[in-house]
Amino acid sequence: MPPTTTLLERLLRDPRRLTRVTHVETVPPREGRVAPWPDWIPELVQSRLHAAGVQAPWVHQAAAADHAWQGRSVVVATGTASGKSLAYLLPVTAAAIQGQATALYLSPTKALAGDQLRALRALTLTQVRAATYDGDTPPAERDWVRAHANVVLTNPDMLHHSLLPSHARWAPFLRRLRFVVVDECHGYRGVFGSHVAQVLRRLRRVAGRYGSTPVFVLASATVSDPASTAVRLIGQDVVEVTDDGSPRAGLQFALWEPPFSELAGEHGAPVRRSATAETGDLLADLVIEGVRTVAFVRSRRGAETVALAARRAATDADPALGRRIAAYRAGYLAEERRALERALQDGSLLGLASTNALELGVDVSGLDAVVIAGWPGTRASLWQQAGRAGRAGRDALAVLVARDDPLDTYVVHHPASLFGQPVEAAVLDPDNPYVLAPHLCAAAAELPLTDDDLDLFGPSARGQLDDLVRRGLLRHRPAGWFWTKRERAAALADLRGTGGPPVRIVEAATGRLLGSVDAAAAHTSVHRGAVYLHQGDSYVVQALDLGDSVALVEPANPDWTTSARDLTDIAIVETSRTLAANGASVHFGTVDVTNQVVSFQRRRIVSGEILGEEPLDLPPRQLRTRGVWWVLDEEVLSGTAIDAADLPGAAHAAEHASIGLLPLFATCDRWDIGGVSTALHPDTGRLTVFVYDGHPGGAGFAERGFTRAQEWLGATRSAIEDCDCAAGCPSCVQSPKCGNGNEPLDKPGAIRLLDALLGALLGRSA
Ligand SMILES: [Zn+2]
Ligand SMILES: [Zn+2]
Repeated sequence: MPPTTTLLERLLRDPRRLTRVTHVETVPPREGRVAPWPDWIPELVQSRLHAAGVQAPWVHQAAAADHAWQGRSVVVATGTASGKSLAYLLPVTAAAIQGQATALYLSPTKALAGDQLRALRALTLTQVRAATYDGDTPPAERDWVRAHANVVLTNPDMLHHSLLPSHARWAPFLRRLRFVVVDECHGYRGVFGSHVAQVLRRLRRVAGRYGSTPVFVLASATVSDPASTAVRLIGQDVVEVTDDGSPRAGLQFALWEPPFSELAGEHGAPVRRSATAETGDLLADLVIEGVRTVAFVRSRRGAETVALAARRAATDADPALGRRIAAYRAGYLAEERRALERALQDGSLLGLASTNALELGVDVSGLDAVVIAGWPGTRASLWQQAGRAGRAGRDALAVLVARDDPLDTYVVHHPASLFGQPVEAAVLDPDNPYVLAPHLCAAAAELPLTDDDLDLFGPSARGQLDDLVRRGLLRHRPAGWFWTKRERAAALADLRGTGGPPVRIVEAATGRLLGSVDAAAAHTSVHRGAVYLHQGDSYVVQALDLGDSVALVEPANPDWTTSARDLTDIAIVETSRTLAANGASVHFGTVDVTNQVVSFQRRRIVSGEILGEEPLDLPPRQLRTRGVWWVLDEEVLSGTAIDAADLPGAAHAAEHASIGLLPLFATCDRWDIGGVSTALHPDTGRLTVFVYDGHPGGAGFAERGFTRAQEWLGATRSAIEDCDCAAGCPSCVQSPKCGNGNEPLDKPGAIRLLDALLGALLGRSA
């Protein structure tokens, strides 16, 4: 082929594909910039790094390492494969070699901690005694780690359940604790992130009692204003380092929208070809061209479907090629991951379809192309995945394939929302009383809480303590607040869950326990008939027993997915903040939500075609949480000239699309939030549209919606208008979880309502 043909041009040889590309962004290559080694780094460390191929640190590595060494907590927020780990390896190893200092490394997954351990051991520094400490560490080894290790690699769950409650056994380690590394810190968001923020405050307090004030080194993907998120996470000041000095290969980044297919969806709505099918084709075509490609797919099942489709298509072209395409998912052993890395690196494997497990588990860079099937959840993930493509001096390509979802529709039509602006910072809310209260109990069990501790836990700590005393969980004595119960206080806080006993997933025929899901998620994810995925195998739920908190499943291989549909009522408890102008208003506050899962739908995996709907008989669930809602007065409504009969459909359509778009602004998942719309709400007496956090006490998502209301609702309006369908489809106003079966929906009415709302708020009164 002529060298001037880019990878993208090769993909577009089929002229039918031209209209699917909505935008091509050219990301220019960047030269690397190095800094001299800071003078405090021991000769030995330098020479070992030299031997490992590091001639000099990039500027961001040197700057962040230096801040940490000088005792300033620091967050380094730079691109994928920019070598963030060197920023903490330098101070951590230097301190270990000087003796008398320990470091704690926290990662969201065991796999990542294992990788870091390997990297540390590869330096063969005898003074650095590094060890992992997680659920898999045998008891005998735990004793050794506590007594001898000076670099301990663990995760927030272990810190919460094991290390902090038994801090006395860790006294020698904590007394010398100089550095705490928080890796992949942008991943700590929502309820989980809020819990981790409280665990880190408990760590600071316990370390303080042993006389140490550790310096925090946080590593983050590129996000806007990383210091403010880091401050929220650790509760103290942080310096930020964002000037990325690492080199980067150039990249073409294409945004791709699959065409409408022949199939008809709900109410005859047009349905686009699925992102999975489109991605399978692209992966096959790239492999046939000899291009090393990874396709990122959100679900394990989806990854396997893409690999299978690509393998079939590639085999048709050349039987040998099919064998050079594989699927990758979570749960692989370290050796399997290494083998996969090697196979991709040496080219024996050309195509891989993977869940984002690869983001954390496998170190793959230097690919030629990356195909991303559907918005991966956050801009940080998008760049982490796209950043895998690019080798020095070669053409590289990333493609984002839109799914039929309003957010995907919006981003592929609004490239400015992806390119040329920093990634939205993670949202977390450590002050959520449902998060804070159990950690106050855990902290009191670790060491009695005193007045001096209150600042650390934030402004609402005092009120929470009084409440915990009233509820009999804590006792207030002259010396402070005490945990006097026999139970383990740490068990009150479930870092990854949201209250209520988790529902166990049990294989009916064998009694084998496969896993568990949050009580909050059980109704939507393991109802009777739901397809449940475990380690790449699929099961169908036979029965959900809420009394025993167990779901019985059987192995099955249906070619459909399921999605639950729910009905919701909402009442305003308290309005905290209001933005009002010209007969329109947006509010943020506390709401009571009553939610009932009423049915579920089956959809074919590859085509997205709807196969049918079945009713469910589940009890309603009550939730006190935070919500954002907007209200329009009668005069504003009459200005829109929407027929009164069409108002419910217009509000409903606007609600669906706004739920779809909030994740772009609030780093949440569409399933983390819910909504209600009505032409007349009893609490406001007017047309009102609510969006609320799906977790008790809220997770900060609705609050972000309020603070970014104009951008969020403006993007919602654009997403609806940008969709080419006539009367609404899954890419704009239909929702896969609507309890009303996507009825009524009025697409043009939704645009007019949002115009009226935004116009009033911006002062263009109707
Ligand atoms: Zn549409
Ligand atoms: Zn709905």
